[in-house]
Amino acid sequence: MYVDKILRPLRLMPRAKGRGGKWQNLYEACVLGLRRATGAMVVPKRSFFVCMIGGALSSASAIEIEVDYRYDSNDFFSASGNPQGATGAAQARAALQAAADRWSAIIDQSLGAVSLADDSSDVRIGFSHPGTGASYQVSAAVSQSSDALAFSAVASEYRGPWAIAENVWILYAGGRVMGSSGAGGTGTGLNFTNVFDDADGIHNRGFNVGFGSLPVWGGTVTFNSSSTFTWHFDITSAAPLGTTDFYSIALHEIAHALGINTGFDDWEDHVVGGYFTGANAVAAYNTDNGTSLTRLLVQSGGNHWRDGLYESLIFPAGNPNYAGTVGAGNLQDLMMEPIANFFYPGLRRLEVTNTDVGAALDVGWSVIDPNSQPSVVEIISALRDASGVVSIEWVSEVGASYTVRTSTDLLIWESLVPVVIASGATTMWTDSAFGFSGDRRRFYQIQTN
Ligand SMILES: [Zn+2]
Repeated sequence: MYVDKILRPLRLMPRAKGRGGKWQNLYEACVLGLRRATGAMVVPKRSFFVCMIGGALSSASAIEIEVDYRYDSNDFFSASGNPQGATGAAQARAALQAAADRWSAIIDQSLGAVSLADDSSDVRIGFSHPGTGASYQVSAAVSQSSDALAFSAVASEYRGPWAIAENVWILYAGGRVMGSSGAGGTGTGLNFTNVFDDADGIHNRGFNVGFGSLPVWGGTVTFNSSSTFTWHFDITSAAPLGTTDFYSIALHEIAHALGINTGFDDWEDHVVGGYFTGANAVAAYNTDNGTSLTRLLVQSGGNHWRDGLYESLIFPAGNPNYAGTVGAGNLQDLMMEPIANFFYPGLRRLEVTNTDVGAALDVGWSVIDPNSQPSVVEIISALRDASGVVSIEWVSEVGASYTVRTSTDLLIWESLVPVVIASGATTMWTDSAFGFSGDRRRFYQIQTN
């Protein structure tokens, strides 16, 4: 089955009357569907031996993506509006938080704190409301009567003075019935030119500047809330065939909100004649594939890689890292393709790839060193019981993710999925699926992601 995508890029930039007001809304919606139902499972041989190779946790990140549900007006993230009720809502929140934490761990850009006042500028942010899809503007004025921009357009909400803490990047999240699995984006809102030109203001935060540049207050994501949409919300298990993995889509939509998207110069300067020319994304692709391309094809619409064409390795650094269902060290379809090919053998959960992170670098974000990893995982025990079941216990850090890898010959390694997310200072993993029998060998590695 192939579900074609729907792209709805909007770039609305009417000028306000008289005093140079501007606004800009950057949005996209895409279908992440299903296709490619061929291929076979690889079933490892049963044998037993234990070998451990470890890796340490990577360093702390700078941005903190703060999920905010105030615009979830259809209660997608609550029991009453989630198609799978209370369980689905709780799982959806956990998975969205995991996706936010994943990007938070990768991007180490510093963002200045901002305070917004009811003053002569009456700064706004603007975005597509997660619950309605409509353009929505939040003003720092306390009311229309004190809004310096009301002469041009009345804001959707008069929030009054508010602030964003240093390094916090807001993610408004919600759901609505839509023709795709999700959407993500960001926008500026109507503002005076001096707001766009303020390097330390809400749209720049010491990171970038100018009307055409990526606004960095945060962004929004929204997900299909239809009762007939077959989400797999649970972050702790792989999505069954025929379902759509929520974590995968959340990662993808957050990336759009972070700027892998049309509508601003930081991205569009790199898109030339249907190709993305950003040096970091192209270099990452070439490194992973042994190629020497100078550019990568983008899908029509301009904010996705060409579907089904490219693969890259899972970005290895940063925690949590669920490593996708292809596993650490293996090639995966690029996460920012327009369609999540969940029918592809072994692909039930997508993860951020090196090429996708390269695109984030090309947009201007600072990201962590992909090699900022390994030292040693301390193994406490590695045992097999009388029935042949193998158990390995190691010293862990709460919330960190670990990949168990196995081999029968020390040459070809298979990364087992799902990855193990530690919930305590030690973690016990049991190979219940492939217990030991006979005299065959099986090697294990535990690595941090
Ligand atoms: Zn997309």
